[in-house]
Amino acid sequence: MAETVKCAHPACSCMVEKGGPHGKYCSEHCKEARDKIELRCDCMHPGCR
Ligand SMILES: [Zn+2]
Ligand SMILES: [Zn+2]
Repeated sequence: MAETVKCAHPACSCMVEKGGPHGKYCSEHCKEARDKIELRCDCMHPGCR
């Protein structure tokens, strides 16, 4: 069973599989937005729209 953690982006509530392609982020978007303060996650995942 895959272990999941919450995406490391503060505004994101996606769950990420450990060792996924984007590290501790759910997507490339969150990875690039880690230095920005976003009020709302825009990663396009269903839970974040
Ligand atoms: Zn998100
Ligand atoms: Zn995310």
